[in-house]
Amino acid sequence: MARPMRDRLFGKYAMDAVVTVAEQVNPAMRRIRLETDRPVAFPYIPGQHIRIQLLDPLSVAGILRPAETLRTYTIWDLDADRTAIELRVHLYAGDGIGLRWARAVEAGDRVVFWWPQGDFHTREADFHLFVGEETAAAAFGPMIRGLGPAARVLGVLESASPEHDLPMPGDPPLLRVHRDGAPAAASRVLTAAVAGLDLPDGAGAAYVAGEARTCQLVRDVLVRGHGWPRTAIRTKPFWAPGKRGLH
Ligand SMILES: Cc1cc2nc3c(=O)[nH]c(=O)nc-3n(C[C@H](O)[C@H](O)[C@H](O)COP(=O)(O)OP(=O)(O)OC[C@H]3O[C@@H](n4cnc5c(N)ncnc54)[C@H](O)[C@@H]3O)c2cc1C
Repeated sequence: MARPMRDRLFGKYAMDAVVTVAEQVNPAMRRIRLETDRPVAFPYIPGQHIRIQLLDPLSVAGILRPAETLRTYTIWDLDADRTAIELRVHLYAGDGIGLRWARAVEAGDRVVFWWPQGDFHTREADFHLFVGEETAAAAFGPMIRGLGPAARVLGVLESASPEHDLPMPGDPPLLRVHRDGAPAAASRVLTAAVAGLDLPDGAGAAYVAGEARTCQLVRDVLVRGHGWPRTAIRTKPFWAPGKRGLH
């Protein structure tokens, strides 16, 4: 029997999995666990992501609607035996194919995921600064864990309210701020918190993720307000109002 086009062209990068856990971590964050029947053979660096296939991009429907095919989520955890991937998916107030999938997915569902090469990961530095909202927290968790307990880690995490704070690794904990109804796009809450940070001396590395405009504004605060070189700041827009499926 002919293999599907995906397997023939991209079998190297796509894998099948079964969802074994889908549960709320807090009112707007879902824990989704994917298990594979063979170990993931791709190289992995904490901070990398997968793409969940919601419509086969190589099908006729997928070719006609390429923006409605794949959605990007960071690998929150990869089990030591490499047969299970944990995700943390933010259930924002809105609509999108990824959001619909994350809300509805149940244990027992099958899913295809793609393994792209993500380049949002930590590098050597005197200290590490993490700034972002709920979607960024889902990426920062594995990055902070990957740095290990000896690393000096600080930063600001924004969420809708205290009950929406995602439990994170790291000690001391990152500063938490809350929108309390303010928008996450071009977030004044996050930029004000970053402006008020008392940052250590030394060569730090900053990782800024989440809404695209907020990422730019936070970078500006670090450059203009704290005198950081742009090269020390890695920004990764995860979503932008009106744009579908950033990756
Ligand atoms: C490298 C990378 C890693 C990511 N990792 C994670 C992760 O681990 N966990 C996670 O939850 N998300 C993560 N994201 C963000 C996620 O891919 C986006 O939120 C994506 O848009 C969701 O797809 P969707 O189909 O729900 O919405 P889309 O169809 O892409 O967008 C529909 C509408 O919803 C808006 N929208 C999308 N996301 C949000 C949001 N969070 N808040 C408010 N409005 C939004 C869009 O701006 C658009 O107007 C990551 C993104 C990237 C690029």
